[in-house]
Amino acid sequence: MNKQPQIIAIAGGGSTYTAGIVKALLMKGDDFPIAEIRLYDIDKQRQDNVAVLVDYVVKTHAPHVNLSVTTEPEVAFSNADFVFAQIRVGQYKMREQDEKIPLRHGCVGQETCGAGGLAYGMRTIFPMIELIDHMERFSKTTCWMLNYSNPAAIVADAVHRLRPNSRVLNICDMPVAIERNLSNILGVNRYELDVEYFGLNHYGWFTSIKVDGEEKLPVLREHIQKFGMLTEQEVENACHSEPSWIKTFKNTKPLVQMFPEYLPNTYLQYYLMADEIVEQSNPESTRANEVMEGREKKMFEAIEQIKASDGNVEGKFHVGVHGEFIADVAMSMAYDLRQKWLVIIPNNGLIKGLPDDAMVEVPALLGRDKVFPIQVGEVPHFYQGMLQQQLMSEKCLVDAAIEGSYEKALQAFALNKTIPSARVAKLILDEMIEANKDYWPELK
Ligand code: NAD
Repeated sequence: MNKQPQIIAIAGGGSTYTAGIVKALLMKGDDFPIAEIRLYDIDKQRQDNVAVLVDYVVKTHAPHVNLSVTTEPEVAFSNADFVFAQIRVGQYKMREQDEKIPLRHGCVGQETCGAGGLAYGMRTIFPMIELIDHMERFSKTTCWMLNYSNPAAIVADAVHRLRPNSRVLNICDMPVAIERNLSNILGVNRYELDVEYFGLNHYGWFTSIKVDGEEKLPVLREHIQKFGMLTEQEVENACHSEPSWIKTFKNTKPLVQMFPEYLPNTYLQYYLMADEIVEQSNPESTRANEVMEGREKKMFEAIEQIKASDGNVEGKFHVGVHGEFIADVAMSMAYDLRQKWLVIIPNNGLIKGLPDDAMVEVPALLGRDKVFPIQVGEVPHFYQGMLQQQLMSEKCLVDAAIEGSYEKALQAFALNKTIPSARVAKLILDEMIEANKDYWPELK
């Protein structure tokens, strides 16, 4: 097969993940030939710094690939084959607010779940629409946007309503990260797993995990009930660079002890263990602080090292499943490989009982111009109830953004499972409006 080298634009070029994504792409070599990588961001200074690291990665792994760095949409998107979107509207300083404001009111403070996720969604909807419009104006008509920007469930719903015909596929690395851990537990390569899954983004369950046709759910269930989604060695050595992730994977233990039927996405801890999560959180220092003092700091240190021409910096930026997954999805679509991956797409009857326009996370075969979803069918009442509540909270938020409606925003917050009452919902919403006055549409 003659493989046309691809032009890939990365929106949110200044992201902590950019270098890892570029490395994962270039590691595919002749399987996925790349002609050019373009970084695009609205923060020139941040992106110029990150570009130093990306340039290092390109020169080290594929010096023939062109790299360009721009804040001009036309330069970034002209003739692109793919746009990878990974923007964080308001950057880490606003993520800190998303996490700390709800915690001050005794509620879960998280980037994409609960009140924090709703606030982040309200900031992100219209910048994402603008990005899609840039892509449609300048890129090839066959260009796909693969979107990692969070909160993916809310972004996906808004895009489906406001730009229903756009070629945007929303994806998430969390199920793949879980599959990585499950494959470590089973002692196999994660590419050997054949999984079935249903839900919304950051809100779903694995219903089957097969290796060579053999169902591994029973053995995994038993393991997780003892150790969580970690190997015994990982539990003993706590060998993950970031403590909050160890805690997250361990929290699957009580979840699967209580609800052994299916294996949960780790984000369900925020909805099913909300009280414990709040007790374990420190409102003065949240995940945003951990990232700023960890992943982000390490990245900027690596950049300074390169500027000083000082040795090998490979360990200093995030690679792993995040980069590999988006590269795998793009490759399957570019060359019509129809590989099976979990993606976020319109329900259209896939999960019985949910509306057709719900954006659900399910397995699908990914082709050049088409995504071929795999039917889920009926889901038991417990999951149906949880899904409906979360979906309607997210839909009220998108209604609020589109209509500029305070009441619908309040409905979104009041309906969320992490918030105990309409009174608390109003207190959080009013503080969020104040904190987000530079970003949110006006709500009346
Ligand atoms: P980051 O803050 O390091 O980088 C985001 C970049 O986006 C910044 O450089 C910022 O200036 C830029 N940006 C903001 N608004 C923009 C706009 N309108 N146009 C272009 N660029 C813009 O953030 P990060 O931690 O690397 O995360 C990036 C995104 O990826 C976030 O939305 C995050 O939630 C998401 N993410 C998703 C997954 C997933 O699997 N779905 C996993 C990790 C991160």
